[in-house]
Amino acid sequence: MENPTPTKCSVLIVGAGISGITAAKQLAENGVEDFVIVEASDKIGGRLRKEDFGGVAVELGAGWIAGVGVGGNKTNPLWEMARQSNLHTCFSDYSNARFNIYDNSGNIFPAEVAAEAYNKAVESAVAKLNNKESDETPTSPKRPIDLAIDFMLHDFEMAEVEPIPTYVDFGDNEFLVADKRGYEHLVYELAKSFLSTSDAQIMDTRLKLNNVVRTMEQSRTGVVVTTEDDNVYEAKYAILSVSIGVLQSNLISFTPPLPRWKTEAISNIDIMVYTKVFLKFPHRFWPSDSDKEFFMYAHQTRGYYTFWQSMESAYPGSNILVVTLTNVESKRIEAQSDEETKTEAMGVLRAMFGAHVPEASDILVPRWWNNRFQRGSYSFYPVHVDHHLLHCVKAPVGRIFFSGEHTSEKFNGYVHGGYYSGMDTSKALIEEMKTEIARENETQSFLFQPFLALTLPQVFDIPTHLLHRLAKAII
Ligand SMILES: Cc1cc2nc3c(=O)[nH]c(=O)nc-3n(C[C@H](O)[C@H](O)[C@H](O)COP(=O)(O)OP(=O)(O)OC[C@H]3O[C@@H](n4cnc5c(N)ncnc54)[C@H](O)[C@@H]3O)c2cc1C
Repeated sequence: MENPTPTKCSVLIVGAGISGITAAKQLAENGVEDFVIVEASDKIGGRLRKEDFGGVAVELGAGWIAGVGVGGNKTNPLWEMARQSNLHTCFSDYSNARFNIYDNSGNIFPAEVAAEAYNKAVESAVAKLNNKESDETPTSPKRPIDLAIDFMLHDFEMAEVEPIPTYVDFGDNEFLVADKRGYEHLVYELAKSFLSTSDAQIMDTRLKLNNVVRTMEQSRTGVVVTTEDDNVYEAKYAILSVSIGVLQSNLISFTPPLPRWKTEAISNIDIMVYTKVFLKFPHRFWPSDSDKEFFMYAHQTRGYYTFWQSMESAYPGSNILVVTLTNVESKRIEAQSDEETKTEAMGVLRAMFGAHVPEASDILVPRWWNNRFQRGSYSFYPVHVDHHLLHCVKAPVGRIFFSGEHTSEKFNGYVHGGYYSGMDTSKALIEEMKTEIARENETQSFLFQPFLALTLPQVFDIPTHLLHRLAKAII
């Protein structure tokens, strides 16, 4: 194949999730309009992704705006955007889940048994997070009820070291997005504020969808990026906003290879696989009370269809249940057919609610682990992560700047983490661009400017920007 003509720009942004789009917006607002956003999939939004299922829009990726309301001293920027867009959300309180734990005979554990198991699990989790001794080994609870509660604390919620910045800064509540435009609508709104549109569609040629970046080669002066379809982009700088899972995979190769401090930092961040399986039923057979919205199944295998949520408060009358699976269980069901997953889920529902439970008419199983543009759901910092490691995860390597939720020290794993990382990365890059221009100007004016400026333009009628290039080439 002939060498394709490269597309040239000042900044190439890889990835059009919330982080990449925010980074581009920040560049545009600071006068750097000469960027290109390259996205592997056929749409923007990344891990904010809705799909039509059972007559409503369900969120395959992020569903909650976490950190809203009481107690915070700032407003979560995503909450602000949601309000401006009139995005429909509903208050979500899953603290009642621990009082709705079913055994495999369909009985709910008595409240005092559940409370005791819960308190023990919290004590144990706090001891683990604070690195203190505990009577129990926190990661190896034995009874099904303990396993269910352990799953809720560590896998459904993010087991984070207290105080948790999201809740301290923005408030304690969480709101579930329940809007037919989807959570992704907020990314579209951000994008439309600086990319050109026609008939409300983004038509800007600086956004390149279906372009899978495979190589990034950097030199002293720039970065050359090639895609799977042999498109070539030449930029002065690149912002890489792909997930930590993609960085850990070999989808993108770097020349020269990334330094060891970078690859070690990347490999030390954990990835959580978090899967929401949606099931549609001909009618509702589970309790409708608001304190029964969330319920759990206690099974001897940890994480086996443990955490259930009714979609009734988000979409009344939709007759949809969601069950959350994580890590080992997520990978296991991703590898089997959806029909097999449905059979397993039906077995669990019939154990909880009886043989009369009707067969689900439809199932939706997202595959975040096997999606080569994600390779997991979100980053999870190891307990007692060291700050040097986090610094290395986000530090630029030459002309490649790193962004994405995994680079947000305070808010990794969250949508607002992606948002803030895009802002931070762009700010750092703009500073670097200013420094580079100042450096160039200094060198040029010191050595050549008097000569070039006074002689060459008059003699050869050379425009100033070419003069600068000439001076640089001579240096
Ligand atoms: C199932 C699930 C549930 C979640 N729940 C919540 C929640 O309730 N609340 C919350 O706050 N957060 C939640 N999160 C986390 C949240 O979705 C992420 O933190 C956030 O969306 C990440 O944004 P990002 O821009 O950093 O990455 P991404 O959205 O992943 O954007 C990166 C982009 O890079 C693209 N890309 C990858 N490789 C290439 C390549 N080689 N070339 C070009 N483009 C490439 C990808 O296609 C993607 O569009 C959840 C995530 C998942 C998956």
